[in-house]
Amino acid sequence: GEALERHEFGAEVGRLLDLVVHALYSEREIFLRELVANAADAVDRRRFEALTDHALSLPADAKVRIVPDKEARTLTITDPGTGMTKAELAQHLGTIARSGTAAFAKSLADAPAGDKPSLIGQFGVGFYSAFMVADRVEVTSRRAGTEEAWSWASEGKGDYTLAPATREEAGTDIVLHMKPDAEEFLEPYRLQTIIRKWADHIAIPITVARDGNDEPANEGTALWRKAKSEVTEEQYADFYRHVAHAFDTPWATLHWRAEGAMEFSALLYVPGMKPFQAVEGERESRVRLHVRRMFITDQANLLPPWLRFVQGVVDTEDLPLNVSREMLQSTPVLARIRKAVTNRVLSELKTQAKDAAKYEAFWDNFGPVLKEGVWEDAENRKDVAALLRFRSSAVEGWTSLADYVSRMKEGQEAIYVLIGDDTGALAKSPQLEGFRAKGVEVLLLDDNIDAFWPERLGTFEEKPIRSVTQGTVDLSKVAGGAEASEAADVTLLLPLLKDALKEDISEVRATDRLVDSAVVLAAPEHGPDLQMQRMLRRAGR
Ligand code: ADP
Ligand code: MG
Repeated sequence: GEALERHEFGAEVGRLLDLVVHALYSEREIFLRELVANAADAVDRRRFEALTDHALSLPADAKVRIVPDKEARTLTITDPGTGMTKAELAQHLGTIARSGTAAFAKSLADAPAGDKPSLIGQFGVGFYSAFMVADRVEVTSRRAGTEEAWSWASEGKGDYTLAPATREEAGTDIVLHMKPDAEEFLEPYRLQTIIRKWADHIAIPITVARDGNDEPANEGTALWRKAKSEVTEEQYADFYRHVAHAFDTPWATLHWRAEGAMEFSALLYVPGMKPFQAVEGERESRVRLHVRRMFITDQANLLPPWLRFVQGVVDTEDLPLNVSREMLQSTPVLARIRKAVTNRVLSELKTQAKDAAKYEAFWDNFGPVLKEGVWEDAENRKDVAALLRFRSSAVEGWTSLADYVSRMKEGQEAIYVLIGDDTGALAKSPQLEGFRAKGVEVLLLDDNIDAFWPERLGTFEEKPIRSVTQGTVDLSKVAGGAEASEAADVTLLLPLLKDALKEDISEVRATDRLVDSAVVLAAPEHGPDLQMQRMLRRAGR
C-alpha cells in the first residue's frame, strides 16, 4: 500500500539475525519461550501502568494465546499487553538497544562451533529468534491508551516494513509464517510441551488453540512468588514433585524472600527420600535460576556440590532476562545469592537438627553428601562439621561431635575415630580394646568420604581429631578405667617379629591399646590412615 515504509535494520541486527538463524538451529524451540516471555512482560507492564491510569486496565480474561494454523502454515502469538507505537516498533524490533543482546551477538560469534547450540539455553536471544522458524514475521500492535495500530513485517533479510493497521484493542499479534522444515511447531501438542518446559510458571494464563478451543498450557502459579500464608502444604508438595521429578514428600520446605541489597525469592526443598542421583550421580546443584519468573537455567550452581540434594527455584530481579553465560559465571549478583542461599540452608539444617528423630531421617539419606562439605568447603567447614552425626563405641544411635566432646574423659586429649567399611564390624574391632578398657569413646565412621574429611577438619572445639589406627595413641593420661594390665616384657620378641615380617611392615612396637588381642595393625604417624590405604589399594594405586 501507499503508506508502506521500508527501513533497513541496524548493522548489528543483521549480524545477530544471521547468527541466531544459522548457529542455533538445534535449539529452535526456544523461539516460543522468547515470544511468550515478551508477551508476558508486556502484560506485566500494562498491569503496572494501569495502577496509575485505570483506562489502561487489563481485560478480566487477559491471557497469552498461541494459535497454530496448519493450513495457512502460520503460528500466531497474541497478547493484551502494552503494545507498541509505530516509533516503538521501529526502535524495539529494528535496532539493538540493549547491551545484553549485543553482548550475546559477540559471544556467539566468538564461541567455537560446537558450543553455539548450548549457548542458547543460557541466553535470551529475544524477538529475533522468531526467524529460526519463520521466513516472514508480522507484528501488529496497538499501544494501550492510543487509537492507532501499526504493522511491522520482515523476512529477516536486512530490512523491515511499517504500515498502518487495525486492531480492536490494545495489545500485540505476532504472526509467524513458518519455514517448511518448522511445521512441527504447528502441532498443538508440541507447543504445549514447550510451554510446560520453559514457561510453566508465567503467572498469566497461556493457551494453545486445538480444534478451535483455547486449551490452558501453563500452570501459571509461580508459587515461590506468593506469600507463605497463601500456599498450602499440598501445593508446596505438588510443586516439589514437579521440580524435583520426585514422588515423595519433602523433608523440609524453605520459602523466603530476600529484599534490600539483594532481591530474590527462593523456594527450596530437602527431599524426603534419597534419589540415586544425589549421591552417585553428577555433583552439580540443579536448583533452577529464574529471572522475573522466567526459567533461565538449572546450571547456575546456586548451591555448592555438597548441598546438591536440595531442589527448587531461585527467582531474582537483579539480573536481566537475557543474562549471558559469561555473566552467569562472573556476576557478583549470583555469588551473593549463592552465599545467602547456602547460609539459609545451613541454618535450616541446624534448626531441624534439634529434633533428633526428624534429623535422623535426613541424615540417613544425605549424611555422606553433607560430609563432602567438610572436605571441600573451607568457608563452611566448621558449621557443616557441627551438623554431622556418627555411630559411636559408647552410645546407641547417632551422636554429634559436640555431644562427643561433652562426654570426653578427664585427661582425654583427642576426639578418636575408627574408619572402616561398616560400623557393625568396626564396633567389634580389636583396635577399640584399649579405648574400651579406659572408657574412652570412639566414633565409628563407615562412609567412603570418611577416609578424607577428618584430617581436613583437624580439630573440633579445639580438640584434635585422631584416627585410632594412626601412630601411637597415649591413653595413660586418661583418668579412671581399668589400668593397663602388667605389661608382659616383649623386648626380646619385637626384633624377632620385625625381622620375620620385614617385607610387609615398617615397625613393630609394644602398646597398651590391647586387652584381649595379641596384635593389631597401625598406620604410621605421618601418612595415610589404614582405611585410606585400603581405598587406595582398591583403586589400584
Ligand atoms: P528483550 O525482551 O530482552 O527486551 P526482545 O528482543 O525479546 O528483547 O524484545 C525487544 C523489545 O521489543 C522488548 O523489550 C519490548 O520493548 C518489545 N516487545 C517485544 N515483544 C513485545 C510484545 N509482545 N508487546 C510489547 N512489546 C514487545
Ligand atoms: Mg524478550
